[in-house]
Order: sequence, then C-alpha cells, then structure tokens
Amino acid sequence: MNDELYSLEHFKKCPICKKDVQDVNALLLNETDARSTFHVTCPHCNTALLLLVSTGQMGLMSIGIVTDVNEGEAETFFHEKAVSDDQVLDAYEMLQEYTGGTKDIISL
Ligand SMILES: [Zn+2]
Repeated sequence: MNDELYSLEHFKKCPICKKDVQDVNALLLNETDARSTFHVTCPHCNTALLLLVSTGQMGLMSIGIVTDVNEGEAETFFHEKAVSDDQVLDAYEMLQEYTGGTKDIISL
C-alpha cells in the first residue's frame, strides 16, 4: 500500500467552495498505468473528494466524487474486497423476512 502524499497540479479549485486549492496534498489510493485514485480534502471547507485521474486519447481527465469518508477510512475501504452479487442477493432475501428494528440489524 502506498501512503505517500502527492501534489495534484491540475486540481486548482474546490468544486464545492470554488476557492483556490493549489498545492493541495492528496492521498494516493490506487495507481495503474492509465488511472490514479486520490483522496483529497479541501483546506478551506473540509469537503473530501475521491478524485479519479485518467489518461487516454483525449488527454488527462479527472472526476471528483464528494464523500464523507476521511483519509483513513478511504485507505481501509478502498483496498477491501468488493461486495459480490451473491452477497447482495443474500442481504435482500434476509431483509424480505426481517421484522426487527433498524438498531437491531446493525448488530446482526
Ligand atoms: Zn472547498
């Protein structure tokens, strides 16, 4: 796991507060030849973003997704195994028959 902080030169303004965020540090979550994924937190409004940066025939492209996940959580969750289709179906079937309360289901 790479936990180095990277500077994103092309990430100039926060998409939420619109303030200048040059020289923002970002946590690299994943990197391949064609795509990198970062966790970025705006120093002005503390909005956290998952930032996907990819290179292709059109050049450099980036997509930011607002998240309530902090850096530590992003690092943990990003490297965990994805939920399978069967697990989703199992949960759906369990919920069809479940009659308990919301608090109780968290402890299942
Ligand atoms: Zn901001």
